Amino acid sequence: MTEVSMDTIVSLCKRRGLIFQSSEIYGGLGSTWDYGPLGVELKNNVKLMWWRTVVYERDDMEGLDAAILMHPRTWEASGHIESFTDPLVDCKSCKKRYKADDLSDNTTCPDCGGELTSPRQFNLMFKTHVGPVEDSASVVYLRPETAQGIFVNFDNVLTAMRRKLPFGIAQIGKSFRNEITPGNFIFRTREFEQMEIEYFVKPGTDKEWFDFWVKERFNWYAKFGIRKDNLRLRPHEGNELAHYAISCVDVEYRFPMGWSELEGIANRTDYDLKQHIKFSGKDLSVFDEKEQTRYVPYVIEPSAGVDRSALAFLVDSYRQETVRGQKRVILALHPLLAPIKAAVLPLLRNRPEIVAMAKQLAAELRTHFYTTYDETAGIGRLYRRQDEIGTPFCITVDVQSLDDHQVTIRERDSMEQIRLPIEKVRTHIEEQLKQAG
Ligand code: ATP
Repeated sequence: MTEVSMDTIVSLCKRRGLIFQSSEIYGGLGSTWDYGPLGVELKNNVKLMWWRTVVYERDDMEGLDAAILMHPRTWEASGHIESFTDPLVDCKSCKKRYKADDLSDNTTCPDCGGELTSPRQFNLMFKTHVGPVEDSASVVYLRPETAQGIFVNFDNVLTAMRRKLPFGIAQIGKSFRNEITPGNFIFRTREFEQMEIEYFVKPGTDKEWFDFWVKERFNWYAKFGIRKDNLRLRPHEGNELAHYAISCVDVEYRFPMGWSELEGIANRTDYDLKQHIKFSGKDLSVFDEKEQTRYVPYVIEPSAGVDRSALAFLVDSYRQETVRGQKRVILALHPLLAPIKAAVLPLLRNRPEIVAMAKQLAAELRTHFYTTYDETAGIGRLYRRQDEIGTPFCITVDVQSLDDHQVTIRERDSMEQIRLPIEKVRTHIEEQLKQAG
């Protein structure tokens, strides 16, 4: 287990403006969370680093942002209306609900010992209506995965971007699942964000590409700072596989509640495209010029959760240290994930020349990367505040700065301080960020 408890993370997130309970003034809505000023930065950085890695740094990928609401036939074709269900059981005494798969004994309530109903299948999709009339013709669903938006646009992207296989489409967006037992903070919620790739390949090359993506995705988490001994790969057993997959490997992280899925990499075969061909009547096969034949591509799908990734990065970067008898908490986040890159801190807030110099420096840095200015406490406390939110660089302006135009840059993890001419601060930080990335 990682040493930090989930309670500690939840309370740090609230205290420091990362994540708040949703609609808190009304008592909250079960398992929904809002990303605060620093949380939205962390989340955006997670998404940006994913996008950078899987779209910008590759020449075989395209991006997409499909609508959440899709034609309801999509979900008939994908099998979600029929099969996207969990077995639900209720306690006849205390009325608590459980996912039957989570219980070792399907007859007795683990909470009160009451008798449980027999399992019934519960569809996890949120249903709603388009337009003013709530009849069966107007039913639509909030998408439970972003994947289908990619499949229905496969031919559009292929044609518009003049692509040949193999190539992939990446998408980030919200998904919704009416989970029976959400929980563990942002690990399992009913509204969440996914980062999904559908990578289209020629049948027969699918195993190779599957192995490639498993490695690639495992390494991404390690590259952005998760300790390798807190990551592992877990292949699915045959009976765990989703209805569309022939193989699946989960990247798991050692969360405070134990090893749990961060991302699943699945071989979805030609299942989805064939289903859409069948239901839409549109030909989604591709032409193989070498063999002069048409085929329906196989699909490898690395499907990650933004929220789960953010949680793993938070948990893994949390450290408590005692330095020279003083306790400090740091989020040793990868600098490119850290919400704020630099904090400018005047050593003496009652000296207007120091304050002016610090404010000017902050204003100039702000146009290059997210920079904050803080003068609301003594320097020790200001450092601790920035450490706790993972700011990699703190810059202090002091009395001497007025004479020599130099400032002190303190690095978060080592606490090493160097003195630099004020005009070199920006390039120094940019170089450090570049080296880290
Ligand atoms: P689980 O077994 O934990 O329910 P899953 O196997 O159903 O997850 P997938 O359908 O493979 O999940 O979804 C891909 C990714 O989307 C997951 O690895 C996870 O990161 C994220 N995800 C899925 N459901 C949720 C949820 N309810 N809350 C937050 N993230 C989720």
